[in-house]
Amino acid sequence: MANYIPTIGLEIHAELKTRSKMFCPCTNDPEEKHPNVNVCPICLAHPGALPVPNKAAIEAVLKVGMALHGDIPATSKFDRKNYFYPDLPKGYQISQYDLPFVFGGILKGVRLRRVHLEEDTGRLLHEGSPSTSSGQPASLVDFNRAGIPLMELVTEPDIQTADQAVEFAKELQLILRYLGVSDADMEKGQMRVEANVSLRETADQRGQLGTKVEVKNINSFRAVHDAIEYEMKRQAEILDAGEKVKQETRGWDDIKHVTVSQRSKEEAHDYRYFPEPDIPPLDLSKFDLSVLKRQIPELPEAKRVRFIKEYSLKPETVELLVADRGAAAFFEGTVSELETEDNQNLEKEKQLIANYLTSDLRGIMMEQRIGFDALKINPENFVDLIELISHDKISSRSAKDILVRMFETGVDPNEVLKDQNLEQITDEGELTVLAKKIVADHPAAVADFKNGKENTLQFLVGKAMAALKGKGNPAALQRIFKELLS
Ligand code: ADP
Ligand code: ZN
Ligand code: MG
Repeated sequence: MANYIPTIGLEIHAELKTRSKMFCPCTNDPEEKHPNVNVCPICLAHPGALPVPNKAAIEAVLKVGMALHGDIPATSKFDRKNYFYPDLPKGYQISQYDLPFVFGGILKGVRLRRVHLEEDTGRLLHEGSPSTSSGQPASLVDFNRAGIPLMELVTEPDIQTADQAVEFAKELQLILRYLGVSDADMEKGQMRVEANVSLRETADQRGQLGTKVEVKNINSFRAVHDAIEYEMKRQAEILDAGEKVKQETRGWDDIKHVTVSQRSKEEAHDYRYFPEPDIPPLDLSKFDLSVLKRQIPELPEAKRVRFIKEYSLKPETVELLVADRGAAAFFEGTVSELETEDNQNLEKEKQLIANYLTSDLRGIMMEQRIGFDALKINPENFVDLIELISHDKISSRSAKDILVRMFETGVDPNEVLKDQNLEQITDEGELTVLAKKIVADHPAAVADFKNGKENTLQFLVGKAMAALKGKGNPAALQRIFKELLS
């Protein structure tokens, strides 16, 4: 690869989660399992049915444009992109050609060319389909997805590595989620990344870009990375052999880990774009951009910077919080509960909150597939738990158990503590009596310790913890045993 400079440009589609479809009142539910229930004459392209643009979808794209520092033109329009495919009932897709809703913009140092709005296609089912009466294999078509609003963002060819492409796509996903316009889950096809990849020779001083290949069928961030790496290697081998890269569309085979030629590159004129005659051009001054702008929340990058500055957390912890807007909000909610109380352990407790939130609580929530919107624990009770830990009232073992109970039922941790008698035992007298008994019962371990085997101390603490059903304060026990044995 040393002789070549890679160039990558991305085209990213995202399904917008509006209530209804792009041009008709049908329910927008790409997850609907029963085929062909969310359909009507408009999205099935019956003759004479007229499309009406979805205002919420347009507003969503305008917000994306503003969030990404793009320009919004005074007027915009829809165009017909003509092609035939069995999942496209009209024989054309309503898309946008020369007047998208957003021009330009920038994200992670990558310039954007445009963001436009179009409609999704239906879905074809080839696998597991029944055979026709003639015994031939059949395909089925489901139009539930046909007409779902689809946003398309196109970047300039500013990306140079597979990692940078992944970083861009992940950040865009996060921004779409923050804006609440799309869940942008790649595995569910809510976000689809196409990568354009080309190589040019390092020695070539003209700076002219090489012939590009467009890679489709990419269904995960891992695949974005692997498909680009594969394509760079494949093209380098072609160029090394003195041959030319063919401009084409290739598909990523996620099982074989290769790209496969799908078709030679089509040009814009192949689609015979023309203005959609059933939808008049749109006057965008009718949209109050200042109102939409105010609906844009603090975006991930700003939140990262602020969290690092305000809470002095480790960058990895900040990343885990920022990666889920709900987690970040819950964190700040809990911290503000802390601050209402007169508290000398503030810094320590902030760290404890961040730790329990990004490890224990996050673990349970991922396992149970529960998001912060459905979490039963409220910030006040979470702070109570943190304070029990911070004041040594409970062991970290008990904290985990209590957290599970809180997660299940939303109870106050102090109630669980009383109910289950989990309060940590720190009473010096009580612990010393027990420690003496354990020392007497385990002469061999005591001898080992005196002969320099320091980890037998842990063994003795373990015995005491077992006797106390995990409720002993381990630090106190450690100290008491040391004193007894020295
Ligand atoms: P096409 O007309 O083939 O669709 P576009 O100019 O519309 O090509 O660009 C489509 C995408 O490909 C954009 O993301 C763009 O940045 C990217 N792209 C364009 N030229 C190249 C190239 N030579 N190498 C890599 N990516 C490219
Ligand atoms: Zn419909
Ligand atoms: Mg193009």
